Amino acid sequence: MKNTEAMALIKQTEQCFVVWDTALNEVIEVQCIESNPSPEQFMGTLGSTRSVTTNPTKGRFLISAKVTMAALEAEQADTIRIRDRIRIFDSWQRCTNDELIRILERQDFQQPMDSYHGSHVIVRMLYRLRASRLSEGELERLERVARFKNSDQAMQRVFDSLDCYLAGIRRDLARLKRIWMKYSSKTRPAIWWEEFTEVAGDLRSSDAEIIEGLIQTIEQATMFGPKWDAMIALGKIGPPAGQQAAEVIRKVIYDSNPKVSVTRDRVIARIASAESEWRSCPECTNGLIPIVRYGVPSTAECEQCVGLGLVQSYETSSLGIRQI
Ligand SMILES: [Zn+2]
Repeated sequence: MKNTEAMALIKQTEQCFVVWDTALNEVIEVQCIESNPSPEQFMGTLGSTRSVTTNPTKGRFLISAKVTMAALEAEQADTIRIRDRIRIFDSWQRCTNDELIRILERQDFQQPMDSYHGSHVIVRMLYRLRASRLSEGELERLERVARFKNSDQAMQRVFDSLDCYLAGIRRDLARLKRIWMKYSSKTRPAIWWEEFTEVAGDLRSSDAEIIEGLIQTIEQATMFGPKWDAMIALGKIGPPAGQQAAEVIRKVIYDSNPKVSVTRDRVIARIASAESEWRSCPECTNGLIPIVRYGVPSTAECEQCVGLGLVQSYETSSLGIRQI
């Protein structure tokens, strides 16, 4: 429907749930929400949304009096921006390593892609999906990008993340520790730095300070994401993580859902067992399998090894072959 029609429907309500068909990029539904709805009524509104399209949709809860034509147009502009970004991400999947590295070198991002998000996605793609296919010449070019300096803190973090990933590709634990030492004790990387945490796990760092940082993250991080990443890293590290790590994980990571419980128990089992009881997971790389999420080349945790990249030696592979 046209925005004028949507607006007329919206203004008949106090608050509403508006659904856009993002392929058509127009409002297809305006649901009235009762004032002060109970949680059940609120969710019921979502549940009663009619499935009038097979196209992708997005919904927004809106206070009707505050809705303007400009707000509806901004939502449409947002849809176009996201669609164009996904088109760019999609094109990167077909790029060679050389082409992706050239984009990083030149910081050559087309609107609506910005340097921060674009660089972040490419750096992660190269490490997680293409590390084994990078030539020494390509790694050298990435080394130069990792030395880029940027006054914007977030942008600098992307280049520092590339530094971590290069330490991971080169299996250089001393380099990872040097990156750790660059930061003051108040901002130790493991607390908030996903890429650092990831590489510390992938390299199975047995460095006592880094392990302590990961344990502190599980204890102190306010968001669940960093706690989870630190737990996975300690699981990859295994026995050197030590009894204290297992105790903190047992105390802090609750049974919030079956996946969390299974992963936590596997991590604790690995820390408590001998290294010889484990072998590389045949299904994944470092616990990750390639997927495409919302058009973005990405990865998901491997179900076979719950993201640890290691399975117990006696486990049967998904091919049904018992391996010893
Ligand atoms: Zn796996």
